[in-house]
Order: sequence, then structure tokens, then C-alpha cells
Amino acid sequence: MKYFDVAVAGAGVFGAWTAFFLARSGAKVLLIDAHGAGNTRGSSGGETRIIRMSYGADEIYTRSAMRSMMLWKQFFPSVFRKTGVLVTAPADDAYLRATRKTLAHTGCKFEWLDSSALARRFPSIALDQGSAGIYESSSGALLARRGVQAVVAAAVDAGARFEVGRVTPDRLPKARVTVFACGPWLPSLFPDVIGRRIRPTRQPVFFFGNREPFDRPAWIAFREGVYSLPPIDGRGFKLAIDEHGRAFDPENGDRSVSAAEIARVRGVLAKRFPRLADAPLLETRVCQYENTSNGDFLIDRHPDLENVWLAGGGSGHGFKHGPFVGEYLAARIAGKAREEERFSLASKGTRARRAVY
Ligand SMILES: Cc1cc2nc3c(=O)[nH]c(=O)nc-3n(C[C@H](O)[C@H](O)[C@H](O)COP(=O)(O)OP(=O)(O)OC[C@H]3O[C@@H](n4cnc5c(N)ncnc54)[C@H](O)[C@@H]3O)c2cc1C
Repeated sequence: MKYFDVAVAGAGVFGAWTAFFLARSGAKVLLIDAHGAGNTRGSSGGETRIIRMSYGADEIYTRSAMRSMMLWKQFFPSVFRKTGVLVTAPADDAYLRATRKTLAHTGCKFEWLDSSALARRFPSIALDQGSAGIYESSSGALLARRGVQAVVAAAVDAGARFEVGRVTPDRLPKARVTVFACGPWLPSLFPDVIGRRIRPTRQPVFFFGNREPFDRPAWIAFREGVYSLPPIDGRGFKLAIDEHGRAFDPENGDRSVSAAEIARVRGVLAKRFPRLADAPLLETRVCQYENTSNGDFLIDRHPDLENVWLAGGGSGHGFKHGPFVGEYLAARIAGKAREEERFSLASKGTRARRAVY
């Protein structure tokens, strides 16, 4: 049997980009996923994810998103759709104001829009009086499943081997180092070390049929806990509630949506997108977030197994950062990057206090 430098378990967005950078650096890489690259159970499955630079005062994620945007566009330009991203909140909202500061400081392109500018520019979104917004015209959407599959194909082109199979801590592949980039499966794979430090939650997503052509950007209202994406590749207008749902088992959880969930999202649709109030529901899916206590990623060595690394905790915002995470983890494994305290296992608590969105 061949011996690898690095085995990466999990071909979601974190594992795929990690394998890509490792393979490009000349390492012999095995990438192995239990259900296939970008599969429907994984948190990286489905159609689209938003990529934006707005992260409140969390400059670390703004910079990571900037770097990642560059890498997505450099290596996989067809995976990016420049829809623009609009973030709205009450004008005095601390997170929105902090975002404005961080974007200005990091040199990101954005516009600050007051209530009347919002109404003029985006008349089809019915926002509350006193709202303000940050508009990132150069941001947009990434194709999720197709993006992951493209990264895996590129990792294979760079020399990695890809297999469908399951890796467990007690049966490691023949490799010098093994990375577990298993997203919401990490707590069940490492119940003692991770356990409640990552909590998978049920997240339904809805696609509605639009009648007219759409020119709306992707929209996020963090305070309200809602986001939407314009129709991309004929999939309809995507709308979802961004609050942590019930605990969810990624392997066997029931992925059918309930009538109550549909009624709730239709309420949001009617309130914020009145012209779509009667739009037909085209498609639904149930995904899961894999939340750390505050939303910071987990990228660290296993505390007891010298040759094992852990990568996950995307916490509902990780997709866009795949390139940064892969580049950083490949450099950490090669001993060429310093530890970032916020990604450490030691910094992960067990009590939910969402702070990073
Ligand atoms: C509804 C929804 C909306 C989101 N919206 C956004 C957004 O707009 N923008 C954004 O940036 N992020 C968003 N996210 C978050 C983002 O999608 C996730 O943080 C990210 O995809 C997590 O990737 P991952 O590689 O860590 O995990 P996963 O994609 O879950 O990958 C883990 C992989 O490990 C495999 N696996 C599990 N166990 C094993 C094993 N024992 N052996 C081998 N393989 C195994 C699985 O099959 C899976 O493919 C959203 C997430 C959801 C669910």
C-alpha cells in the first residue's frame, strides 16, 4: 500500500482546499470522504454560499475573506458570481458601525447607505424605517457543491489521490499526518476532545420562483437573522433564517422541512419581499451549521495525537474562507505558519455565545 505524507479526511470546502494546497506544495496527499466530495449531507453541499467582507470588528475574518476571494477568483473564476452583497441593520447598530470601520481600515470597497439611499437603490427589499446598509458591490455568491468538486478535481490534477471511504481515529490511513476536516461529524468522531465544543444545528433553506428578472444583491440582516440570494443558474430566489436551529445529526437527521418552517419563512418573504409574497416554493433543503461556542474556526493539532490535525467549526460562515483555511493549515502542517489563538482548541468553550457571523 502507498504511504502518504498527509491524509485529509473530509472533502468539504475546508478539506478540499487543504488537500489542494498540500498537493501543490509537492506533498503526497490522500483525500478521502465518506459520502463523496461536496455531498448533500455535508455543510458544503447545496447550491450557493455568500462571500462578503463584512465581519463587524473581526478584522481577522475580513482579511481572510479578502484573501479567499482572491484565491477563489484566481483558481476557480467560474465558481464566483458577482451579485453584490448588502448588509442591513438599524442605523445605530454596533456591528454594522464596526463593520464600516473595519472595511475602511482594510481598504475594502463598500458604500454606506442610509435609509433613503437604501429605498432608492433597492426598492424591492422592504426595510424598516431607520435602517442603514453596507453594500459590497464586488462581493457575491460562490457555487457550493460545484465549487468543492472543482477544488477536489484540481487537487487530483496536482497529484492528490481521492477516494470515497470513512476514516476513524482508531484506524488512521498510512500517512505521516492525518487531518480530520469532517465538519459537523467532528463531535462524534472525537467525543472526548471536541464533544460539545462543536454543535451541529438544523438549518432549512428555501428557494422561491420569481416571475420577473432579478437585479437584487445577496442580502443579510444579521440582527433579524435572515439572508437571501438572487436566483442563480435557475434555482430560484433563496431565503433562509440564520439563527441556530435544533441540534442535528448530519449522518441520519431528517432533512424534510415542516409546514411550520415553510409558514415561518413565507412570513419573512411577505414582509421583506412583498412582490414575492405569493411566489411558488420551488425547492427546500436542510443543511446544518457546525457551531463553535462563538463562531471562531477550529484549526489545531489534536491535543494527544501528535500526527493528527482538526479543522472545522465553520459555524454558518465558513464556506467563503475555504481558501484561507486550506492555505493556513497546509502552512501549519509544514511548520511555516504561526498558531492563531482564535483557531485553537483551547479557545473553544462549550456554552453557545455567538459573536462571529
Ligand atoms: C444552510 C447553510 C448556509 C450557509 N451559508 C453560508 C454562506 O452564505 N457563506 C459562507 O461563507 N458559509 C456559509 N455556510 C457555512 C459553510 O457552508 C460551512 O461552514 C462549510 O461548508 C463547512 O465546511 P467543512 O469542510 O468544514 O465541512 P463539510 O462540508 O461538512 O465537510 C465535511 C466532510 O467530511 C466528510 N466526513 C465526515 N465524516 C467522515 C469520516 N469519518 N471520514 C471521511 N470523511 C468524513 C463528510 O462527508 C463531509 O463531506 C452555510 C452553511 C449552511 C448549512
